[in-house]
Amino acid sequence: MTRRPAPCSSGKQRYRDRLQARIALAGLRANPHPRRQEQRSYYCPACSGWHLTSQPRRRKDRRT
Ligand SMILES: [Zn+2]
Repeated sequence: MTRRPAPCSSGKQRYRDRLQARIALAGLRANPHPRRQEQRSYYCPACSGWHLTSQPRRRKDRRT
């Protein structure tokens, strides 16, 4: 067994790179979940991985 990275503390599904996230996103678009509408992928510095989110990208909002 290969060692798997620890899941992110966010509890979200983690993808190892943007390509994996985009593939998953494409799959969700082809088969949308009725209550989850992930729209885009984003890099997560906490786990050095990628997640999907339904939140639209904010414009020029750099405050957290
Ligand atoms: Zn993460």
